[in-house]
Formats: sequence, C-alpha cells, structure tokens
Amino acid sequence: MYRNHTCGEIRMENSGQEVLLAGWVQTVRNLGGMTFIDLRDRYGITQLVVDDHTTDAVKNIASTLGREFVVQARGIVRERSSKNAKIPTGEVELHITELNILNEAVTPPFTIMDDTDGGDELRMKYRYLDLRRETVRKNLELRAKMAHVVRNYLDSKNFIETETPVMIKSTPEGARDFVVPSRMNPNQFYALPQSPQLFKQLLMVAGFDRYYQIVKCFRDEDLRADRQPEFTQIDCEMSYVHQEDVLNMFEGLTKHLFKELKGIDIVDFPRMTFAEAFERYGNDKPDLRFGMVIHELTDLVKGKEFKLFEEAEYIGGICATGCGEYTRKQLDALTEYIKKPQIGGTGLVYAKVNPDGSVKSSVDKFYSPDELMAWADRFGAQSGDLLLIMFGSREKTLPVISSLRLEMGRQCGFMDKENFKPLWVVDFPLLEWNEETQRFFAMHHPFTSPKPEDIGLLDTDPGKVRANAYDLVINGVEIGGGSVRIFDSALQAKMFKILGFTKEAAEDQFGFLMNAFKFGAPPHAGIAFGFDRLVSMFAGLDSIRDVIAFPKNNSGRDVMNDSPSPIAQAQLDELYLKLVKSE
Ligand code: ASP
Repeated sequence: MYRNHTCGEIRMENSGQEVLLAGWVQTVRNLGGMTFIDLRDRYGITQLVVDDHTTDAVKNIASTLGREFVVQARGIVRERSSKNAKIPTGEVELHITELNILNEAVTPPFTIMDDTDGGDELRMKYRYLDLRRETVRKNLELRAKMAHVVRNYLDSKNFIETETPVMIKSTPEGARDFVVPSRMNPNQFYALPQSPQLFKQLLMVAGFDRYYQIVKCFRDEDLRADRQPEFTQIDCEMSYVHQEDVLNMFEGLTKHLFKELKGIDIVDFPRMTFAEAFERYGNDKPDLRFGMVIHELTDLVKGKEFKLFEEAEYIGGICATGCGEYTRKQLDALTEYIKKPQIGGTGLVYAKVNPDGSVKSSVDKFYSPDELMAWADRFGAQSGDLLLIMFGSREKTLPVISSLRLEMGRQCGFMDKENFKPLWVVDFPLLEWNEETQRFFAMHHPFTSPKPEDIGLLDTDPGKVRANAYDLVINGVEIGGGSVRIFDSALQAKMFKILGFTKEAAEDQFGFLMNAFKFGAPPHAGIAFGFDRLVSMFAGLDSIRDVIAFPKNNSGRDVMNDSPSPIAQAQLDELYLKLVKSE
C-alpha cells in the first residue's frame, strides 16, 4: 500500500494515529535541530516533521530531499505547536517514523505554489507541473464537476448522449476546416468537425428525439485573444419542439448549473430581440450587470449648425452615473479610448449635469441651456452625471458606444465577476451581407430556419428576414447559440441558393442531409453551449485557457510538445503530399 490517507484530510481528531502518506515535496525548511517538510498531493498539504526523536535513518533520507521529490512517509499525527490557519490540515503535523523516496526530481523551472514565479510561456511548456498547482487544478476539477452535472441534468430529461465522428466531410461554411489527408484514399481529405451540426440533425431524422454530447470541435480561425483551435461544446438537439421549448429547457439547465455549482438562484432570465439589444446596448451580447443603456439623440440635436452632428446619421450615447466630476484629463482619455483603431470612434461630445440641474457641455455654443436639459432628460440624468455622446452612421456608432459603455462599466466597478446576469437574445437576422464577397452569409448557419412570417421576404428583401435563432448571453459573453432548423428539403435548397451555392455544390456538400429530409424529418431545434467559456465564467477567470488541461498558446501552438511540427518524408509520401516553401 502506498498510502492510507491523503495529504488533505488529516485533522486534530487523528492525533496519535499512525498514517501513511505519499506525495510531492513542496518545501523543506531546516531549522536547526528540526526539519519541516510540506508534502503535497491533489488533496492538500500536510506538514511532516523530523526532530531529535526521529531515527537517524529517517534523518539521513530527509537531508537528501529536494523540491518535487516523490516520497512516502509513515508517522504519528500530533498537534502542531505553531498552527497554520490558512490550510485545513494546519493544526496537525506528522512526526515521521519511516521515509521512502519513491522518485527523485530535478529542480522544477518554477515554484509549484499558488504564487508561482513562473511566467506564462514557461508554465505552458511545463503544463504538467503547472497543473500540480492547486489554483490551476481546481479549475479542472470544476470543469469535471460541471460536465457531470450537465450529464445528470440532460440524462434526467431523456437526452441520449451520442458520439458523432471526428473525421467528417469538409463543408467549408463558417470557419475554415482543419483537414486530415487520407492514406487509403489518395488526394482525399477528411475534415475535423466545426460542430456536429449535421450529425445531430440526422439523429433527429433517426428518431433519437433528444441528443446531447460534450464534444470537441475544431475551427481553423485566425486566433484572437482567448480562442482555441480546439474547444468543447455542450451540443444538443431536440425534436418536436418550438423555439420556446428549447429556451425553457436550457434556461432550466443554466439555472440548475448556477444552483448546483455556485449555490446561486437565478431569478431573472429576460429575453431581448437582436434589434433591441443593438439599439440599447450597441451589440448582440448585452452585459446586464449595469444600466447605462444607450439613448438616441438624433431628433434632438439636428439643425443647430454643429457640423459633426449635422453630418451624422445617428447621434446617441450613454449616461455615466456619478461621473460628472471626471477631469479634463479623464475625458481626454475616454476620447482617446474610443478613437483607438480597434474601437473605431470618431469623436466624443460630453455634457455634465451640475448640482443645480443645469448642463455644461463641450458644445455649449451650439445649444441653449434648455436644449441641453432636454438631452439630460432623455437619459434620465441626475445632477453629478456625465453624458457621453457619439455620432456617425448608426451601424458603426452603436458598437463604439457599446465599447465605451463597457469601459465605463469597468471604470465604475460594475463588472463584478460574481454577479451573473443571463439573458436570451432572440430574433437574429437570418443573413448577413458581406461587402467584400458581395454575397449573403448565414448569420448562424445555413440550417437555421427563417421566422415563418418572414419567409415571403426571402425573395424580395433577404437581408430583412429574421431567424428563429437565439443566443444565451451571460455578463456580456456569448455562452451558447442555436436555432430552430429548416426541416423541409425544398426550403433548405432555397436557402443554399440564397447563400450562393450552385445546385451541384449544394448537392455535393449537403446532398446527404437534403436526401435524409425526404424520409420524414421531424421539426427540430437545438443549441450548443461553449463549455470552456461557461467553466471559465463560473471559475471567475478571463481566459478559457485556464480551464483546459493542455491548451494551445495564442498562436495555436502546443509549446509543451512543440506542435504543429513537420512530418517525415515517408509519411508525406504515403499521403501523396508535397511540401511547398512557405514565405
Ligand atoms: N452548431 C451550432 C454551433 O456550433 C450550434 C447549434 O446551432 O446548435 O454554433
């Protein structure tokens, strides 16, 4: 037997007992006649002590220990003289009677403690050592627990967990596919799934009725902060349901997760249309932890010879509650913030509501005091508030206001990570026009059904068609998304046509789906949650990397095993692949 207890469970009640522990040496402190060893395993840390009463044999072994040695220690539990209230085992220590080195360790490249001295890249390179740290491991434990709770919940609702293939047909719509060359089928390729979308729809045709899978998905996208080329979804599909049924089911799952994992009762779960989210929050994932909603001023400000407003299609902004005391310097910093290229703002007009209710603005010479008061009224502003107003085209300005709103939320301390505000955003547009390629793309994916009342518009004004598509948003983060599907092969064919597929291309890529639909496809709908995102949000983290055991870095590389990497010529030959020089 290697051990009969873990390093995290010994307490005062065990005093006098003999126990056997195994773990890693975190620290060795030599204090004259006494040596203290912190022994760590997954469950915690127990202090081992070597003193005058310890045998010479044990003393000799103890004197050779280094950090991260793997050891086994037998000893008697006793009360500590100087207790450590910070750890659960801090009242006791183990006076060791037997010590075995199970394995030695070279000095680790960084300290394996909560406050490590290792930088990001170094910790990624030695991820297995980073994972020994409690702060990192507990995120993975939360991940495992969440997966378990999700499974229990969905199993209890009759969902069948079904695996779908990882090597599939390439259907390059949406992101780019990662592809896998086939040795047995020269010059042909599998793709790794961007999601199991088509398979789960086929499972509905197959009569599975309710499907789920916690599944790896792969997207070869340009890496942005916090994107991983492989990530995990909680993927679900249901038959004989309307949008409302799906929203209720997954609202239930979301509430259940908050209750089970965080002890939080989510009461409000509002729904907002895409159009409203855009008008009031400037984006399709509103952060509802704070107000500062956007108000439009266009109708109030025109006709006053203020050129910037005269030329703008849209003028609007937010009221930053209690920020009326912002200094010139702070206001200039906000202007600089919105003018950053990635934000894309053109300028910022501000107005402060004075203690007497009068309004002082940066454009006083164009507007009378009463006119400025009317602006303040529109926002419901009080004395001490600051109005921040932006202008330009509606499409471009609302997102700029949204960025500033979030920045003000940060500055005002409204982004409490333990305050969770979920909502559904519904009625997304079906299609998105792409200027560059001069064609429509599906906003969600090509299998999303238009709202029945908008189907007529498909022929006349496709850009106006709304979809039965929905996103689950929590604290400004898109956590999940899904849609009611098209289940009629004629409508699906029409959709492919609008998306610019020739009949042949649609047949080649999606023929199997349209064919399946001819055999009695039930009405169906589904959703997928970003599992990594959900875990990182529950863990209070900003990055999904921290909830993935072996993540890639920001360039999509695994720095631990140095991949992607070249392959041998013989492998290339077998796969009929030829290397070309890259820039
Ligand atoms: N397959 C979709 C996605 O990955 C989700 C869905 O529509 O169910 O975003």
